[in-house]
Amino acid sequence: MTSVDLPGAAYRESYAAKDGVEYWLEKVGTGRQLVVKADDTAAYNGFTGTADGGTFRADITGDNALELRNRLPWLKPQLFGLATSVGTGDRLGICTPGHVRAMKAVGGGLKPVFAQQSIREMGRCHREPRNVLDDATWGAFQEGWTDGVGADADHLHTTADIDRCADAGFVFYTLDPNEYVDPEAESADEATVRTKAAALDWASLDSSQEKFLETYVGHRIDLEHESITLDEESVLRAMAKYGPSLANAMDLYRHLVGLGITHEVEFAVDETDYPTKPAEHVVVVSELKRLGMEFVSFAPRFVGGFEKGIEYIGNLDELKRDFEIHAEIAKALGPYKLSLHSGSDKYSTYPLFAEATGGVAHLKTAGTSWAEALRVIARHDGDLMREIVQLALESFEQNRKSYHLSCDPAKVPTHATDAQLVTLLDVIDSRQVLHVSYGAVLDAFKPRMYDVWQAHDEELYGIIEEHFIKHLAPFVR
Ligand SMILES: [Zn+2]
Repeated sequence: MTSVDLPGAAYRESYAAKDGVEYWLEKVGTGRQLVVKADDTAAYNGFTGTADGGTFRADITGDNALELRNRLPWLKPQLFGLATSVGTGDRLGICTPGHVRAMKAVGGGLKPVFAQQSIREMGRCHREPRNVLDDATWGAFQEGWTDGVGADADHLHTTADIDRCADAGFVFYTLDPNEYVDPEAESADEATVRTKAAALDWASLDSSQEKFLETYVGHRIDLEHESITLDEESVLRAMAKYGPSLANAMDLYRHLVGLGITHEVEFAVDETDYPTKPAEHVVVVSELKRLGMEFVSFAPRFVGGFEKGIEYIGNLDELKRDFEIHAEIAKALGPYKLSLHSGSDKYSTYPLFAEATGGVAHLKTAGTSWAEALRVIARHDGDLMREIVQLALESFEQNRKSYHLSCDPAKVPTHATDAQLVTLLDVIDSRQVLHVSYGAVLDAFKPRMYDVWQAHDEELYGIIEEHFIKHLAPFVR
């Protein structure tokens, strides 16, 4: 048998043959089944399912996903190092086929991280790390993605989070110590900064203030287009702001390394309140390296507004300059990738980011597939969509916590007509209100929503594909 002989219900792209065993995915009703075919029925061992006239049919379960990853190594998460990579994220577990189609459409070169979800989001979606990984596996298999997949345990705050993701098989660990960053140090007067710096637990950083000042004050970093000379106030301010977070990040890092698993690390401070200044980038990264952290990417907080689900807010020339200087520092001190978070829907920024980093970059999007998937509901079940909007508004104050937003919920129509509904994802106010509502909305309407998505799965994939092509194309070099 070859892929041309597949039955009509098969997802044609899914066909794979390895070691004399054939695998494909079939649509069964509104669900899917894995089909395995081999002359030697011993090949069915390891999957849970039933033999069925020369083939073996297995349900789309976590255990079967794990076995499939063991059989088809390209589905097993791998390290990407400095390759240009993109995290797609998928809160729903059904959008990966659209992500794969977009990856294929823009034509190779980019490394995808289909399995990616922060612990915060998993909590709101009642998902476990294994669900995230397994759903991404089925999606990548369905669409025949064989060019390698990553798996990002995103925005980790505790060693327990790390353990959960390690057990599941994640390989990319985004360490986020932002709750230990001191935002007051940003604008405090010099005397306060000195007091804060002196009060740091220097021993936890295997250093002393004296040693620190000796290392950095007057230190010059030569970049491609300029040089940065560090002065005493800026390095003390950097340390007052980030010092405790470095100690915390090292605790997380040492724990991860102690697990002895395959891993790579991103260090992320993007969810802090103030942009990461060049001197701060230099001090933070230099200190992490001194302490022994190896990482492939760093996510600073860039200038301007990176809000959920909408275009960049701010001055693009300033942002371009910010990308360039951080990229030059990353090249001089690394190289490591610069990582752009909350990266969805910021079309104006991608060419600038790709250019400044020369592709030594990671783009991370998380919730935009959820927002786009709502278009399918709006088109096909107006009553459900009106209920969703209603709930998104009622729960907004709770939902918005920990997100940067500038929407005005008062501008979202509460009794939208069907024609209005399909435009809600194109208007900032309603897009953001819906964007952050996923936890409450899924809690209330999950089965009804999945019925709509399953009945219109090809339409969903098409919407996601088109949306992601716009994100990915600027990074193809
Ligand atoms: Zn982030």
